[in-house]
Amino acid sequence: DSVGFAIVGLGGYALNQMMPRFERAERAHIAALVSGNPEKLQRVGDAYGVPPESRYSYDDFDRIASNKDVDAAYIVLPSGLHADWTERAFAAGKHVLCEKPMALSSAECERMIAASQRADRRLMIAYRCHFEPYNLKAMELIREEAVGKLRLIRTQQSYRMGPTSPSQNWRVDRTLAGGGPLEDYGIYGLQAALYLSGEMPESITAATYQPAADPRFAEIFAHVSSQLRFPSGAVAQLATSYDAAPINEVDARGSSGALLMQPATNYSGLDMVLESGGESRAFSPGDSTVQFARQLDHLADAIRDGSEIITPGEMGLRDLRLMEAIYASAGTGRTMLLNPDGTMKG
Ligand code: NAD
Repeated sequence: DSVGFAIVGLGGYALNQMMPRFERAERAHIAALVSGNPEKLQRVGDAYGVPPESRYSYDDFDRIASNKDVDAAYIVLPSGLHADWTERAFAAGKHVLCEKPMALSSAECERMIAASQRADRRLMIAYRCHFEPYNLKAMELIREEAVGKLRLIRTQQSYRMGPTSPSQNWRVDRTLAGGGPLEDYGIYGLQAALYLSGEMPESITAATYQPAADPRFAEIFAHVSSQLRFPSGAVAQLATSYDAAPINEVDARGSSGALLMQPATNYSGLDMVLESGGESRAFSPGDSTVQFARQLDHLADAIRDGSEIITPGEMGLRDLRLMEAIYASAGTGRTMLLNPDGTMKG
């Protein structure tokens, strides 16, 4: 039967993207809501038919442990709160779907994985692109060497953030957002470089930029740019910014062709072209909007059947290690050499 989810955090992404998409999930439904705003809790609870006894404030969340209708918690709070709320959900005996980035440090990710093991409950990171038809087709095309041997990957994820400051917007507050654009948006380029190459980088070189006297960047970086070298010899260049004209692009270039995705990882409206042998071929492998429901069904299956999770906590941990290497390189001006698990050598 269907897995009941508690939505923890009723912000923009939960309300506008994920919650409406539960309707298309076959084995998942919204069973409870958690919010700090009583008026919103009532309005959204009524709209989704969530009974009053399954509406929680952050303060009384822990009594969700006795709610048999709730199997899993979907953590969709600011990123700096993911670790604590994932641990609270496991302590309440629930499975967890946690939004990206998994957390803001590898130490937090390790705590979350340990909590999952202690509670004997599943942990999945909401890396929706692993369930999205264009990105799945791209993985297949690269694997089948439709571009020959993969050589160069270039990713760009940017937009220009309007005037704001850490007290107004958690996305520019270091304690909730880490370094900023990399954790929030550049993570899509980092993910794509890994799932397209199928490799872990053996070294990383990076640079960051934090302009002075701009309240948006009082605590976070404006741009993060990094270069990854893979054991095959392929290299990836990842650029992300909160202060540049918008783009969401992945370009995977091999010995005989290139796969161009733009936009590459949006909610919908993706575009993908394969250039090879002087010809250009567009792909339309399916409706991108299935990605939201598919990831819900994937966790539901894992909970019911004990099946493998393709975006587990270990993947989120791996990505935080790589982000730590990016910041370490930018901070020291040195190239970071990496172990196969993404930890830094030496
Ligand atoms: P948002 O600002 O719209 O919502 C955040 C929610 O958290 C708000 O309801 C806010 O009231 C609540 N909140 C609770 N405690 C808070 C605190 N201490 N400070 C600030 N807000 C607090 O953000 P969002 O865009 O919905 O992002 C939420 C999470 O979802 C983030 O981790 C983000 O990375 C992730 N996200 C994922 C995707 C995706 O495509 N997978 C897209 C957008 C956001």
